[in-house]
Amino acid sequence: MPLDEVEGNIQLQKRMSGGAPYYMLGPISTDVAPGFDHITAAIGAAQSSRFGADLICYITPAEHLALPNEEDVRQGVKAAKIAAYIGDMNKYPEKGRQRDMEMSKARRDLNWEKQFELALYPEDARAIRASRTPEDEATCTMCGDFCASRGAGKLFAGDLRGDKI
Ligand code: SF4
Repeated sequence: MPLDEVEGNIQLQKRMSGGAPYYMLGPISTDVAPGFDHITAAIGAAQSSRFGADLICYITPAEHLALPNEEDVRQGVKAAKIAAYIGDMNKYPEKGRQRDMEMSKARRDLNWEKQFELALYPEDARAIRASRTPEDEATCTMCGDFCASRGAGKLFAGDLRGDKI
């Protein structure tokens, strides 16, 4: 189902059921990505949640291809949980965005432990960072010496001396 059809479908179903709790499987937002339907479904599920779905079902990478194995289920559940979180950010903006605000500050401050603490899946985040250790522990291997967060931090602290930021 294209994303622009999600809102109308949710509202129609909720109206027809008298506002009963509504369960959605995705929807899968495009059919042309077999092997990645946990992602296409999560994109649709975030929209479903945003517009009023009360329960979303996980879909695995094996959808339309094979019986899911244990790792497929793990990936599907993780993607669905992220979708529900994104939906709640929009459904409940007052309380749903605080964690993201804290994460933004932790990124600004290059506070890696705080970032892991706030992450939905800290073990996965830790594993990726640990697999590519930067020369400067404050930064990461994406930009290295050109770390914009480190440079901005020094700039705002008045500690930029024109050499390496
Ligand atoms: S190196 Fe780049 S990606 Fe990594 S923390 Fe700094 S700005 Fe962000």
